[in-house]
Amino acid sequence: DLNTGKSHMYFSRAMAEKLHREDIIEKEISMCLENGTDAIYLNYQPQLHLATGRVVGFEALARMRSGELGNVSPAEFIDVAERKQLIIPLGNLVLKKACAFLAVLESRGYSELRVAVNVSGIQLIHEGFGSSVMEAVVDSGIRSENLELEITESVLLDNFAAVNKSLKDFQENGIRIALDDFGTGYSSFLRLNELNVNYLKLDRYFVSMVATSDRNDYITSDIISMAHKFDLEVIAEGVETVIQRDFLIENGCDIMQGYLFRRPMEEADALLMLEGFDRI
Ligand code: C2E
Ligand code: CA
Ligand code: CA
Ligand code: CA
Repeated sequence: DLNTGKSHMYFSRAMAEKLHREDIIEKEISMCLENGTDAIYLNYQPQLHLATGRVVGFEALARMRSGELGNVSPAEFIDVAERKQLIIPLGNLVLKKACAFLAVLESRGYSELRVAVNVSGIQLIHEGFGSSVMEAVVDSGIRSENLELEITESVLLDNFAAVNKSLKDFQENGIRIALDDFGTGYSSFLRLNELNVNYLKLDRYFVSMVATSDRNDYITSDIISMAHKFDLEVIAEGVETVIQRDFLIENGCDIMQGYLFRRPMEEADALLMLEGFDRI
């Protein structure tokens, strides 16, 4: 009986609070989608070419500023959006905003810089996804070569053939694909040789393990060389220390991203950074 016993009462109270919070998040995402409020916006974290030290692009990271709850983490609001059938329109909004930023970059003369957008598995298997992406590209007038999609491997487990085919379609339209969070989950089972991706993003975990033991170093450097054998470029994420960065340079990693260089930042700050007028 759910209504007897103290623990059940506490349990249902916590549940009720969580549901209430979810309702608020759901409501504010819907309002943002309908009325174009700025509750959801993007931050941009620069990615650096390790051999030259040049910025090659940014990862777009969604942010939520809730009127009622303050800042809500993407882990929380993306999860709510996925469960409340809002991830398709929210994902399209993220794509539109990222393409708008790419258009600004091009207009300022940074026509070589790329922007990577995180794509939920639900979006990737949705039949309208390909045309939404191409629409965002065409409407913003950007070069498709500057748009990158970050996918995670979980969606490939059940739908390998279909997803891999749509990745190929994106690539044929100039869009690049990055496999996010590599090394966590089921990566070892993936047929990397058949997979239509351009970049492998070395998960933060493997970066954080650098210089903690020889064994860990071997694993990290082996992932980098294995990726290169499959003609994939490696993007290391979560680089926080000089020791980690130097290890990645020595082991031929291509691109890095992490707090050591910059945290994710607002669009205006990203532009200032490129102009050399950093506020940070
Ligand atoms: P992710 O794609 O693995 O993104 C990398 C996360 O690591 C980001 O967290 C970023 O802020 C954080 N990070 C970057 N550099 C460092 C570092 O040096 N140290 C540490 N400790 N962390 C670092 P964030 O922004 O909280 O995003 C969390 C996750 O939410 C993302 O993980 C991604 O899975 C998801 N996400 C964010 N934006 C979107 C989006 O637009 N669409 C979808 N579907 N998912 C998104
Ligand atoms: Ca990502
Ligand atoms: Ca990642
Ligand atoms: Ca992650």
